[in-house]
Amino acid sequence: MAINIALDGPSAAGKSTIAKLLAKKLNYVHLDTGAMYRCVAYKAIHNGIDLGDEDLVCEMILKTEIDMKSDGSIYLDGVRITNEIRTDEISMGASKVSAHKRVRELLVAQQQKMALQKGYIMDGRDIGTVVLPDAELKIYMTASAVARAKRRHLENLSKGFDSDLNQIIQEIEQRDYQDTHREHSPLKKADDAVVLDTSDLTIDEVVTKIEELLPL
Ligand code: C5P
Repeated sequence: MAINIALDGPSAAGKSTIAKLLAKKLNYVHLDTGAMYRCVAYKAIHNGIDLGDEDLVCEMILKTEIDMKSDGSIYLDGVRITNEIRTDEISMGASKVSAHKRVRELLVAQQQKMALQKGYIMDGRDIGTVVLPDAELKIYMTASAVARAKRRHLENLSKGFDSDLNQIIQEIEQRDYQDTHREHSPLKKADDAVVLDTSDLTIDEVVTKIEELLPL
């Protein structure tokens, strides 16, 4: 029987890559919740909305449609913005808007509604603690800031983006700080989550380890 899997951890720990692969193997649906916060930041920035203005950002979310397709493409109000939301500017913006309590409530409600049917692999920061506290399997995936920055750097280069490793290390450390120190739903390991440090593991090794943790 299908279960729900919560996959949390800091920025660039490889959660989305792993979740995507596992979803394919298990025939589950992958929901990248970070992409939802990214869409909100993207739209706010492009509409000149102050990311610090919780009321305006929430009003905007109520008029926003985020559609995540099974092939990984993401549509914001009908426009494909899959790669546009992956820039460093949007990463920092997503971290900013995600600190607002009501922004989180609006997106968490959408995420919980989607997962009612089971068979979801959700990756984010608060999945095991807030979104799906009853998930049958909870993983807290982490890696050193340098290992994560190197991966993001290679990913940027492969997409043809400009990339500066030292700047990425700084931004990852800053996002880690913001995500773990915010007042509402800070990034935190759920008490019943299994910790997976992926610093020295290949993608295949991580997938195998998670498969071994699946309930029979
Ligand atoms: O996972 P990703 O790096 O795409 O997430 C972008 C930002 O969105 C994170 O830095 C974090 O601040 C926020 N986020 C969150 N809760 C989630 C997923 C992402 O606060 N469940």
